[in-house]
Amino acid sequence: MKIICIGRNYTEHIKELENEKPIEPVVFLKPDSAILPKKMPFFIPAWSKGIHYEVEILVKINRVGKHIQTKFAHKYYDEIGLGIDFTDRELQSVLKSKGLPWEKAKAFDGSAVIGNFYNKEDFDLENLSFQLYKNQQLVQDGNSSKMMWKIDELIAYVSQYFTLKKGDIIFTGTPKGVGKTFENDVLIGTINNKEAFKIKIK
Ligand code: ZN
Repeated sequence: MKIICIGRNYTEHIKELENEKPIEPVVFLKPDSAILPKKMPFFIPAWSKGIHYEVEILVKINRVGKHIQTKFAHKYYDEIGLGIDFTDRELQSVLKSKGLPWEKAKAFDGSAVIGNFYNKEDFDLENLSFQLYKNQQLVQDGNSSKMMWKIDELIAYVSQYFTLKKGDIIFTGTPKGVGKTFENDVLIGTINNKEAFKIKIK
């Protein structure tokens, strides 16, 4: 399986990182080795000078598809979830400034937290509220209504480039409020007030 990530999908997050507003979605991949095993803590990599959390809505693809039209995209997923796209922001900035790929900063082992999945029918996908709490303090508070590209549009867009397969996961981008995480932090993600994951930082 593969993990397809979207960058800069929320206007306010683009502002906080002083990025340019894109005219098309920003897309990058994480390998399956990036998935943090269930119930494992996240170990800050030895080479890292600082890791940022980015809470994101996840979409699990349920069948093979390519060149999917937006109007049919809803047939390609039954479940949505919540996760974290862990990022070494400093390293990412260095790579970005040199015009180099971001993988070392975003696709390393453990960088993809994948929480529980839920039946999409139980949610209003146009108004999905989700949060990240760091040590019980609210640090990110997002809503899918603020996405620049909606889930169905993202599926249509990325499937022009990558054949989607059953089990692939799309990370749909993070809202504002990203920040550093440190040893002994506890990160809890909630989607419509349900706890979707709880991660200890080591
Ligand atoms: Zn992200």
